Amino acid sequence: MSKTHHLDLLNNSISYFREAVAYAQRESDDTNYWKFAILHVVQAMELAFKERLRRVHPTFIYESVDRPGKTLSLKGAVERLRNPQIGNIPIADWEVAKILKAFDLRSELTHFEFNHSHDHIELKFAEIFGFMIFFYRRHLGLETAAFIEEEQHNRIIRLVRTRAELLDRAKAYVKSLEGGDIWLCPTCQEGTFLTAEEQCCFCHHKECVVECPTCGAESLESQLIDTSDLLDWDYDEGRMVLVEEIGLEDHVCPECISETRQKVEDLRRSQYDEDRAMEEYYARKGG
Ligand SMILES: [Zn+2]
Ligand SMILES: [Zn+2]
Repeated sequence: MSKTHHLDLLNNSISYFREAVAYAQRESDDTNYWKFAILHVVQAMELAFKERLRRVHPTFIYESVDRPGKTLSLKGAVERLRNPQIGNIPIADWEVAKILKAFDLRSELTHFEFNHSHDHIELKFAEIFGFMIFFYRRHLGLETAAFIEEEQHNRIIRLVRTRAELLDRAKAYVKSLEGGDIWLCPTCQEGTFLTAEEQCCFCHHKECVVECPTCGAESLESQLIDTSDLLDWDYDEGRMVLVEEIGLEDHVCPECISETRQKVEDLRRSQYDEDRAMEEYYARKGG
């Protein structure tokens, strides 16, 4: 990144934002327009975060303050913005979750792994759009007219309101239900995932609810953790030993993972001690 680039962070952010708005205001049913709207608004957000950090100190836009060159990841930028010693901007955990989720969505969009519904990306856009308006005004000191036309603003605000209404409706539905667990949806990050229906009643994300093979508790399939990295033993029978001694499963739920890791670690240590004792025994016997 060149020096002049730094000075253009804000202007670049605003031009991405305007592009995003241009795609969004077509109000088309073509999902592609919404993909472009998301790509642009997330880019605008990333640049705006860097601009805010640059205003604190120019080196804060780099991943390592000592070694300028590589610019910060979005996650790193959010952490610095929230840090009381740096940005000191109160961004709530749920907001951070949404920001990072939108960023993941951008990666999925650019890597063609995209299988979200039209409604879902429209919602995502509305969320980040709403957040960015607030961020530009409150944290970069801009007047609304500096980054969006009034008419466009009002049109998209209506969209954002529609989204809020949809969410209210989904939450009312959740309240009206009797029985069945309600979880945080991994896609929209709202408390609207109905385990009985294996579907989120807000963003319509579908996912299997499975039992953890270790503790039997119910978990979302995507949240089970693969244990194959625990099998990185330097001798072949490692896996068999683990499976036999501690009943290691291929996947465990997030509740089980630390206990499982601990068991593997304990076993590994005792195995190591045993091996050392054997070595010593044979060394002494040989010598
Ligand atoms: Zn959802
Ligand atoms: Zn478990």
